Amino acid sequence: MLETLFPTLSRVRFVVQLAMLFLTVYGSVVVGTYAADKITGALPALSCAYDQANGAYCVLVPTQHQVHHRIGMAMVQAQQLTTQMVLPLLMVLLTFFAFFFVIGKAFCGWVCPLGTLQEWVGKIGRRFGFGVRRFEKGDLGEVKRIRPVKWVVLLGFVFLLPLLTGLGVTPHSLGNPYCDICPSRIATTLLTGNTEELALRINDGWKFGLGATANVLIGFMLVGGLALRLPFCRICPLLAFNSVFQRLSPMRLSKPTRASCGSCHICTDACPMDIPEISSAEGRKAYNEDCTLCGRCVEYCPQDKVIELKWGPLALFGSSRAYYKAKVARELPDGTVKPLKFVRNAAKPATADA
Ligand code: SF4
Ligand code: SF4
Ligand code: SF4
Repeated sequence: MLETLFPTLSRVRFVVQLAMLFLTVYGSVVVGTYAADKITGALPALSCAYDQANGAYCVLVPTQHQVHHRIGMAMVQAQQLTTQMVLPLLMVLLTFFAFFFVIGKAFCGWVCPLGTLQEWVGKIGRRFGFGVRRFEKGDLGEVKRIRPVKWVVLLGFVFLLPLLTGLGVTPHSLGNPYCDICPSRIATTLLTGNTEELALRINDGWKFGLGATANVLIGFMLVGGLALRLPFCRICPLLAFNSVFQRLSPMRLSKPTRASCGSCHICTDACPMDIPEISSAEGRKAYNEDCTLCGRCVEYCPQDKVIELKWGPLALFGSSRAYYKAKVARELPDGTVKPLKFVRNAAKPATADA
């Protein structure tokens, strides 16, 4: 019987096609809109949703809707995120790492304008007879106690507060808090003749507080720097940031483990960051997180090739007794030099009176 009705597969297929055409086009007329909607909705069908006579549901309708309203919008947002955040951040980080790879922490000792200014203020101090105020000798406990501050500044002012501000937790005024307290912002603009950065914003409490902190820091740097060596560098977040990656750069300070160090501590005296490890440690530990790769320890180490500034396997500059002798004749390891003539003359009567 069935074979008479459906002798071939093609015939079966034809009947099914006919039934489905009827269902998808006129289905709602026969089974009601609700049932047709359920039936056709369950089919991966191309039954047109615009046809009011059926209860059809076409999978392409919500697909287009999702592509249009969701995926399209998401792509626009992703594009905005890419162009406004990911790419600029990537460029900044890539430039930083390319630059950092080549010179490493020598950025601090050789490039940073704030480092240079502090060093020059110190030199002026020596010329005007200000003695060098050393941080605690021996264990150098003060130096080690100060070290965590730069990490707190980095995490709190460079990462945490801007993030919390972006999330709407902290006020808008705390969006770039490190820039607001940075003495380099004031120092470098002052050097161009611009005094605006010294001004305080009195209509915004947070900005006022941060700006006042920057003014105190630059004041301390200029006055305290006459006697203290690199006072701001000790709490600088960039020093902390650089030290995270200092082992990635071929530029480094090298003090081999079997170097014939006499533990004379002259290198620590010469170090503007008062780093005790350079005289007491060797190998990796001698290259400390506070090191600015300035090279003074290399200049003042009286032993041949005990400390070296290296770029990869290349020794750029190594300690030598001959160099030490010539150097120490002009300037003592802690930076003390002969004061200017009028300062020496002015000091003489005071000594005589005493
Ligand atoms: S520690 Fe900071 S202020 Fe000092 S030289 Fe380095 S980047 Fe400049
Ligand atoms: S100056 Fe040279 S010899 Fe003296 S403690 Fe430093 S590394 Fe050792
Ligand atoms: S350890 Fe040497 S190179 Fe590093 S900051 Fe001190 S003196 Fe400069």
